[in-house]
Amino acid sequence: MTSLDNQQYTVNPIGFIQSPFKEKFAIPRQPRLASSAHGIIKLIAPYNHPDAVRDLEQFSHLWLIFRFHQTAQQGWNPLVRPPRLGGNKKTGVFSTRSTFRPNSIGMSAVKLERVIINKNQAQIEVSGIDLLDGTPILDIKPYIPYSDAVDAQGGFADAPPAITMSIEFSEAVLSFIATQTQYPNLLALITQVLEQDPRPAYKKNTDQIQQYGVRLYDFNIQWQVVNNTTLVTNISQV
Ligand code: SAH
Repeated sequence: MTSLDNQQYTVNPIGFIQSPFKEKFAIPRQPRLASSAHGIIKLIAPYNHPDAVRDLEQFSHLWLIFRFHQTAQQGWNPLVRPPRLGGNKKTGVFSTRSTFRPNSIGMSAVKLERVIINKNQAQIEVSGIDLLDGTPILDIKPYIPYSDAVDAQGGFADAPPAITMSIEFSEAVLSFIATQTQYPNLLALITQVLEQDPRPAYKKNTDQIQQYGVRLYDFNIQWQVVNNTTLVTNISQV
């Protein structure tokens, strides 16, 4: 048998996802934690041929295989500090879903919303995504429940992260959001994203007021956290 050392493979994106998440901060740490996070997979030629997605709508969920393109240059380490272990305990990279891994490959099971055929070109709307805007998609496969949904043990991530944060909005923010009729999911999306409490773990044990900001779609959103309450204080169009 010949040595398999140093084999290299070239993968080409089949498309790129258009996502509300414009920066890594505050993206949910797994898919389906924010059902209002919708994205559109813009397939590129020749993968956008309508034949390539024939019968896809029979499936409710899809596996997305993608490249962690924004962190790929930073390499990997055998040990990582996952947020689920409080951000200071190390564990093996292959025991985590860390973005810093060999080959920088991500995988997410997301909900299929619809297949869009426009001018004989296919695009796919999905929801519950945890992908950055512009993430290269390497492959798409149907989620097959009889095989993929197993009664399994989830180690240190056995249950979804507990939601202990209550989310409040200033009057000004609420009325601004109400005018954004092209984003009917905006209030729900902000709520679901902030309920995940995206603060770094080491910031969580303080009763100081903490200010944060993030970009979702083309809105800058600012909030403050005091104990277990998040108040969205400001929103503006970029
Ligand atoms: N469900 C995937 C991803 C888990 S990590 C998997 O298990 O493989 C999820 C985190 O990946 C998000 O919180 C976000 O911070 C990060 N992320 C998403 N898209 C990315 C990209 N294109 N490049 C780098 N990091 C990304």
